[in-house]
Amino acid sequence: MTSLHIHTALLRHPQLSVALDKQVLLKMENTQPAGSFKLRGIGLLCQRAVAAGASHLICPSGGNAGFAAAFAGAALGIKTTILVPETTSAEVGRRIREIGAEVIVHGSVWDETNQRALQLCEQPGSVYIPPFDHPDIWDGNATMIDEAVLQARELGVDFDVVICSVGGGGLMSGVLSGLHRNGLPHIPLIAVETEGAASLHAAVQAGERVTLPAITSIASTLGAKRVAAECFAWTQRHEVHSVVVSDAQAVAATLAFADQMRTLVEPACGAALAVAYEKLPVLAPYERPLIVVCGGIGVSLATLANWKAQFSL
Ligand SMILES: *Cc1c(COP(=O)(O)O)cnc(C)c1O
Repeated sequence: MTSLHIHTALLRHPQLSVALDKQVLLKMENTQPAGSFKLRGIGLLCQRAVAAGASHLICPSGGNAGFAAAFAGAALGIKTTILVPETTSAEVGRRIREIGAEVIVHGSVWDETNQRALQLCEQPGSVYIPPFDHPDIWDGNATMIDEAVLQARELGVDFDVVICSVGGGGLMSGVLSGLHRNGLPHIPLIAVETEGAASLHAAVQAGERVTLPAITSIASTLGAKRVAAECFAWTQRHEVHSVVVSDAQAVAATLAFADQMRTLVEPACGAALAVAYEKLPVLAPYERPLIVVCGGIGVSLATLANWKAQFSL
């Protein structure tokens, strides 16, 4: 089975490497055809579902997950329905329809949207595509580490810590699965969230999964009120440093990254970059960080300018 995702570049960040006196590596997942790493996991899940006989893919997400599912469905030639809540902008719906998926607007909050998606999945041949909570998603996301390990070896470098952002934890679960299956279970992970979307941080502090009352961060892509059980379970079998940055820090990193790497990413991705840009103490013990540049399509010159003004940056 050829994959739907592409191999992405492993780059050295020249300015951050100098500023931190560390070798800062970037895995450029923003260059995936669907704009984020999501195509790895969701692409694999969709592919396996179709191979098992699915004739209709159904995904409740107006974000990067829905966009990746729409992309995967089109590439596989399968009917795909993306459900979004009423709060989703018309622009998002248009963008998803444009690549060939059907968009259904349903519910005032995501939970209602999700209930409708689950109902639709009762039809024969229909398969539910969740945004982050599925073993095939973690399996697919792990391929970025398979790749990074080979690429680092070719470059004659290695990494001693990985930094990624956390929403529901599908990315983190994939990264950790990737480290373990490549014989690197000793490499720690710095798991980054923004204030107002820090469901993993709350769980780590409570010693069990908790459900946040609301999401208040602008990094809506990180806005899972509760992380996947698998994500929390990883914190008990791997060295994970849970870190929270402010929206302003995430946006500042996004701006600096745009200037230095000529690349636009969402604040959800800026959160991970902020660990390096802000020289957070958690990074001090490490010399060779690998940052997952997770990407995201929810950014433009105009939105960046708005956030810049909003946070007086
Ligand atoms: C989905 C996503 C995340 C968070 O991934 P989870 O698997 O939900 O933890 C972070 N950044 C971007 C750009 C995303 O699309």
